Amino acid sequence: MIKNSKKLALGIDLGGTNIGAGLVDLTGKILKKKIELTQKELGPKKVIKRMIGMAEEILGNQKVRGIGIGAPGPIKKGLLISPSNLAGWKKVDIITPFKKEFFCKVILDNDANAAALAEKKFGAGKGAQNLIYLTISTGIGGGIIINGEIYKGFGNAGELGHMIIDRDSKFRCGCGNYGCLEALASGTGIVDLFRERFKKNGELNELKEITAKEIFRMAKKGDKVAEEVVNQALTVLGVGIVNYIHIFNPEMIVLGGSIALKRRKLVFPFLRKFVKKMVMPAFKNNVKIVPAKLGSEAGIIGAAALAFGAADS
Ligand SMILES: [Zn+2]
Repeated sequence: MIKNSKKLALGIDLGGTNIGAGLVDLTGKILKKKIELTQKELGPKKVIKRMIGMAEEILGNQKVRGIGIGAPGPIKKGLLISPSNLAGWKKVDIITPFKKEFFCKVILDNDANAAALAEKKFGAGKGAQNLIYLTISTGIGGGIIINGEIYKGFGNAGELGHMIIDRDSKFRCGCGNYGCLEALASGTGIVDLFRERFKKNGELNELKEITAKEIFRMAKKGDKVAEEVVNQALTVLGVGIVNYIHIFNPEMIVLGGSIALKRRKLVFPFLRKFVKKMVMPAFKNNVKIVPAKLGSEAGIIGAAALAFGAADS
């Protein structure tokens, strides 16, 4: 059955491993979806062709109000510049091939912005007009929503993981700077902090395969070093959040990503307590710190949210 096109959007989530595509309605519900391996090594042309094929399969004769594409940043003037998890993709134009095929609005944005908008429209941030979304997993990304819309500044605002917390830190971030939030509090950062503790003792070899997940588990069981490392990372995260609160005064901080969500019983009480203690008096008691709600489908829903835009919120 062909539905009212104004109430539907197609969301495509291009990731380094998978491509997800879904037909999404105005309530954020996925009506139909497809997931395929990205196979990025085939190069952008072939991958984009397959993305278009997936879109055609999902849509059939169904028209939509727009197609949203969420992809790894950075993105500039509608081009994927050089995403770190799509090696070899440089200045790739995804929008034009889609427009040629579907004759509708096509909107491309980075996946963190898309997820931020999705949480605002359909998830934990429903009803809020100003929020900061942070995803904490291997890295730290995020998006800023101001007055209901993604805040882009001059184009690239929202690199929340690259707030420099400690310039004198020895931990180098993927961006080249030292002491970014991402370098100190992401999954990768937690592993680095932990390994550093054992470097001096020559015990490093045994830790080759250690993961952030394991370090959290050890901390829970009472391992002193793991506990200290986790506390250190969460403290840094708290410092970052206090900084965002002082700058943006959001109604809500929404935290997603495996570290925030799978360790939520530890992470949220820690951060709420820390932030309450550290923020200036005017900000006390008026910022909620909540877990993201959209889970593994946030990428597709977020991409569709781009196509719906802020107008319906
Ligand atoms: Zn950085």
